[in-house]
Order: sequence, then structure tokens, then C-alpha cells
Amino acid sequence: MSADIYHEMIVDYSRNPLNFGRLEDPHATFHDSNPLCGDSIGIDLRVEDGSVSGITFHGKGCAICMACSSVLTEMAKGKTVEEVRRIGKDDVLGELGLEHLQAVRIKCALLSLKVLKSALYGYIAEKGGDTGSLKEDAAGLY
Ligand SMILES: [Zn+2]
Repeated sequence: MSADIYHEMIVDYSRNPLNFGRLEDPHATFHDSNPLCGDSIGIDLRVEDGSVSGITFHGKGCAICMACSSVLTEMAKGKTVEEVRRIGKDDVLGELGLEHLQAVRIKCALLSLKVLKSALYGYIAEKGGDTGSLKEDAAGLY
């Protein structure tokens, strides 16, 4: 796809974000911010039968942050916990043609993935499950 189409997608998602709002009775929730840009994102998660039955994000962010949060939550919806923990930064960046994003904007793009991995870590840890490298994955994103 051309750069123009990706740019349009980012603008569109930032104006009309997907899965934006709060969940009632989430099983996990986590919030983090990117002070460099002012992005501040929280994710609510519901997990039923080992799959993500509900996921929303809330907060505020720049266009790249809002677009990546939309794409990521859409990607995680309905997936198993195992599949969600394997979502990597290239999956998110690739959806929006951001593979060559400048280093200063990487935090904008990956903040929601960091928040999602941290929420998942909290969920699994609370259940006494095997969190594997989730914490390190979240910390090592950027
Ligand atoms: Zn930003």
C-alpha cells in the first residue's frame, strides 16, 4: 500500500478510534503514559475460556498513538491469550506502514502494546499462571 493510504488510515483512526471506551468489570486493566509526547493510554481486558472476549482502550494520544491503539485492540479481539502475548511490535507497525518510524515516535506507536502486555502479565500473574517473558517483552519494546 502507498504511504498516502497509510497516512489516511492513521488520520481516520485518530478521529474515529476503534474499541475506544471502558469495559464493565474488566479482568485486567493497565495504564501507562509516554511523557515525551503526552500520550496516556489505558487498556481494559476481559478473558473468557482463554480468549480475549473484550478489549477497549481509553485515554488520549497523538494520531499515531490513537491509530496504533485502534489497530492493536482490533488485532487482539477474539484471540487466545497465547496468541495475544505473541503480538510483536512489527505486527503493529506493519499494519500502518510504520516500520521506518523515527525513534522518537516509536513510543507513540508502541505504548498501547506495552500497556496490553502489562495488562496480560497482571492477569496471568493474578491467576498464578506462567507469565513467561511477558514482563521483559513489555519492558524491552522501546
Ligand atoms: Zn505520541
